[in-house]
Amino acid sequence: MSAKPKLKLNTLFAGKLNKIRTFALLLIFGGLICMYIGFLFPSLMTLFFILGMIWVLGSVAVYFWTGMLSLQSLKVDCPVCGKPTKLLGRRDECMHCRSILSADPADAPKQPETNTSESIETESNTKSESING
Ligand SMILES: [Zn+2]
Repeated sequence: MSAKPKLKLNTLFAGKLNKIRTFALLLIFGGLICMYIGFLFPSLMTLFFILGMIWVLGSVAVYFWTGMLSLQSLKVDCPVCGKPTKLLGRRDECMHCRSILSADPADAPKQPETNTSESIETESNTKSESING
């Protein structure tokens, strides 16, 4: 059942929040690299510098956004690995073990719907019996 923990890099993409954060991290690196490329082309230095600044500012905005999302997200303890994680939206991955968690009971692996329908059937049976009796 439980997959062996592979690379720690795996957690960079576990869950929507971590994915967005990794994207923002790459954006910062991209911006810095872009600014350094500006040193190779002195005539275009301002252009590369402004572009890099835009990327870095964009990643700051993305970090800010993930902070807001993180506040809104649902905090749960993962039933698989037991660690606290956050759900973004209805269905999300655990940040630690990447098992898919859902806040919606309809997504549960064991069908609770059939159970409820069975209980309803038994209720109706008992009712009909009582009517017959
Ligand atoms: Zn987990």
